[in-house]
Amino acid sequence: MSTEQALTARSESKCELCGAAGNLGVYGVPPDSDDSVDRSVLVCETCGDQIKDPEKVDPHHWRCLNESMWSQVPAVQVLAWRMLTRLRTEGWAQDLLDMLYLDDATLEWAKADGEGAGGDDTVRHLDSNGALLEAGDSVTLTKDLNVKGAGFTAKRGTAVRGISLVVDNPEQIEGRVNGQQIVILTKFVKKSS
Ligand SMILES: [Zn+2]
Repeated sequence: MSTEQALTARSESKCELCGAAGNLGVYGVPPDSDDSVDRSVLVCETCGDQIKDPEKVDPHHWRCLNESMWSQVPAVQVLAWRMLTRLRTEGWAQDLLDMLYLDDATLEWAKADGEGAGGDDTVRHLDSNGALLEAGDSVTLTKDLNVKGAGFTAKRGTAVRGISLVVDNPEQIEGRVNGQQIVILTKFVKKSS
């Protein structure tokens, strides 16, 4: 039996990540993929393209990992871990990653291609211009923001002084607007000089 036949049987002719049934191909999981069944995953074209090219990643597509990360196949677990790690700035991906348990050998394999390396412990908060934000900084809003639950709009140009950073989420800061502490997305602020 060829690797492809064995994988087709294992996956019941479906993409092992998203469950799609068309355009399936064998993806050898790097590094050291040896075309063996254990080190390969049957993936659809959409998954395959996005795994190989981080530029093409559509976060929404990977919500499928919600199910496939529970696969018993280590190679599938490795891909799930890598994609979730790549997407972890999305809150849901971090949540799944927190739930995903890999045994030591599988985790080592998952980390072996460098995904998630570098900046592991440093969450960098950057403003809309890419300037580094630090706790205590003052920022200006770059667009009108509807504050959910608070019933007001924070106007573009509003200065927010003494921000704090949301730990573990580089896209969010907190600050006081209209006397209320609110969460603000970093892409909508500019650091005041
Ligand atoms: Zn797929």
